[in-house]
Amino acid sequence: MAPHHLGELAGLAALLERLGDRVTLLDAEAARADVRSPTYLGGLRIHESGGLVDPAALLDGLARLVDRLGVRRFDRSPVAGLRRSGAGIDLRTRSGTVRAWRVLIATNAFPSPLRRIRPWVLPVYDHVLVTEPLSDGQWASIGWAERQGLTDNGNQFHYYRPTADGRILWGGYDAIYHFGGRVDPAYEQRDATHELLARQFFATFPQLEGVRFTHRWGGVIDSTSRFTPIFGTAHGGRVAYAVGYTGLGVASSRFGARVALDLLRDEPSELTELAMVRRRGVPFPPAGRWWR
Ligand SMILES: Cc1cc2nc3c(=O)[nH]c(=O)nc-3n(C[C@H](O)[C@H](O)[C@H](O)COP(=O)(O)OP(=O)(O)OC[C@H]3O[C@@H](n4cnc5c(N)ncnc54)[C@H](O)[C@@H]3O)c2cc1C
Repeated sequence: MAPHHLGELAGLAALLERLGDRVTLLDAEAARADVRSPTYLGGLRIHESGGLVDPAALLDGLARLVDRLGVRRFDRSPVAGLRRSGAGIDLRTRSGTVRAWRVLIATNAFPSPLRRIRPWVLPVYDHVLVTEPLSDGQWASIGWAERQGLTDNGNQFHYYRPTADGRILWGGYDAIYHFGGRVDPAYEQRDATHELLARQFFATFPQLEGVRFTHRWGGVIDSTSRFTPIFGTAHGGRVAYAVGYTGLGVASSRFGARVALDLLRDEPSELTELAMVRRRGVPFPPAGRWWR
């Protein structure tokens, strides 16, 4: 943490309070009394909003819910292209064509079948480490009694959280772009980034020196030039899209889905009139885009 981050935290606290959140600014002593790290110069405690989500459990729950509602799901059926057909849209997959009345594109950082939105979304890799389970003594050495989710507030930031089985998940910082905007499972492992993350972990918690990391992975996030999602329609309003959560979409993709559904209804709503929905920001320059 750098001294200039303290002013940013105060600004963020004022904004969150204005939006109705209960927050507490912490000085270095109070922050370290909560979670013991020599790198902390202060902190911001956000009391009620936010929470920790197991993404796999969330996905399973959503799948069960749509099944109960009678929705037909086609997993592992990438859409390679789409085109207008009568009043609807034909979606081309490897095993056949699906005809849809309306289409919502929510393809995250993966190459979108709607090619025109690709310049707005840059695939960037984000990496994660998970420690072995910590002993009671190791947990006592860092405090963190309430096991809340933590993040630091640099431009390149870490996020870290305890797992249900007593480990620490530690990720973020590096944001790795691969030439041409390529997305490939091979990029999910990157020694240099995982080693950097490990060094930064032990700088944050030197009292855990010697702890082993048992899991490491990475994933691709859909960055936009303004760091917030973009929305819009195509093919005469038959297709809507919501992409570009820039690594923060677990909760906000619910908002994005509501926006895209309103766009597909083709009736102005409170959401469709928002400036962030009506404007898309600027696309990324073409370097390396030509072979996507
Ligand atoms: C390592 C890592 C850590 C993260 N941590 C956080 C965090 O702490 N908090 C947070 O809010 N967010 C986090 N994120 C980001 C979060 O996961 C995403 O923002 C969120 O999942 C976006 O939701 P989505 O529905 O837009 O995309 P996804 O959940 O990725 O769903 C997109 C779906 O579209 C499918 N798809 C793609 N292309 C096609 C195609 N051509 N045809 C058919 N289907 C297609 C994909 O298979 C996928 O199922 C993290 C991401 C990574 C990689």
